[in-house]
Amino acid sequence: VKKQAGQYEKLGHSVQQAAVLGAGIMGGGIAYQSASKGTPILMKDIKGDAIELGLKEARKLFGKQVERGKLTNEQMAERLTNIRPTLSYGDFGEVDLVVEAVVENPKVKDGVLTEVEALVADNTVLTSNTSTISIDRLAQNLKRPENFCGMHFFNPVHRMPLVEVIRGERTSDKTVGTTVAYARAMGKTPIVVNDCPGFLVNRILFPYFSGFSHLMAQGGDFEHVDKVMEAFGWPMGPAYLLDVVGMDTAVHAQDVMAEGFPDRMAHDGKNAIQLMVDNDRLGQKNGKGFYAYE
Ligand code: NAD
Repeated sequence: VKKQAGQYEKLGHSVQQAAVLGAGIMGGGIAYQSASKGTPILMKDIKGDAIELGLKEARKLFGKQVERGKLTNEQMAERLTNIRPTLSYGDFGEVDLVVEAVVENPKVKDGVLTEVEALVADNTVLTSNTSTISIDRLAQNLKRPENFCGMHFFNPVHRMPLVEVIRGERTSDKTVGTTVAYARAMGKTPIVVNDCPGFLVNRILFPYFSGFSHLMAQGGDFEHVDKVMEAFGWPMGPAYLLDVVGMDTAVHAQDVMAEGFPDRMAHDGKNAIQLMVDNDRLGQKNGKGFYAYE
């Protein structure tokens, strides 16, 4: 962390029009959050179904605000118009900042980022919501790597305040500043971190999950551990948190951490998280993880 987020903010420009690539769990959440705080956002996917689902989720979240008396029906309708769903890059020339939130696959991300870079203005900021891929690795194929950085949101986007703004080797201060400004405009708490495996949060979270896995290997009871961590003051224990994150996602991140920090994070592939995946217990996403879901 080189400078505090606030120092960067002055160096960037404010985002009047944003875009998100991918209307999945994260893309849909990012579109909702931007629209809800007043920044218009284009939401692009390659599948019409995905866009429908993203919009449905946004409508549901706005609906809850109406139920709680925080928004009127008119305000909800107006904020919903801030999300412009699209299957094409038609209006991308007017976008100040793009958040790429497509599947966690470096080749797909490379393709999407180079495609969009060719269509946006020279000063448009490109960001990626990747959880595990190096920002310098993704910058390799870009013509303007100075305009690129990570913008890592957490799930569910509307509830999790933190956003990691990841600065690559060639990212400019202005790019970081614009990204920090946009995160703040979305009502989030940005932190600026350097590019490394796990960025900041997962470097803390995965050693914690690893401690939990060791306890399980020694015959620990996951419900008991969860209750202990709740009594310690955390909002949820590790087993429940893994169910929320998704076991497949966690295995992937665990492997990235093992590769990045072999001395501390290497594992034998037989840990609790891997065993859950082997038994098709992926967590809330397929209704069965450590706990069972409807
Ligand atoms: P998801 O599978 O729910 O959504 C991905 C979306 O991308 C799909 O709708 C898919 O149709 C779309 N897509 C694929 N190729 C595309 C293309 N070429 N152009 C436009 N859209 C395309 O995935 P997700 O969970 O929302 O994750 C997206 C990104 O966010 C990943 O990089 C992931 O690592 C990261 N992330 C996920 C979480 C999480 O908890 N799910 C948290 C933080 C970051």
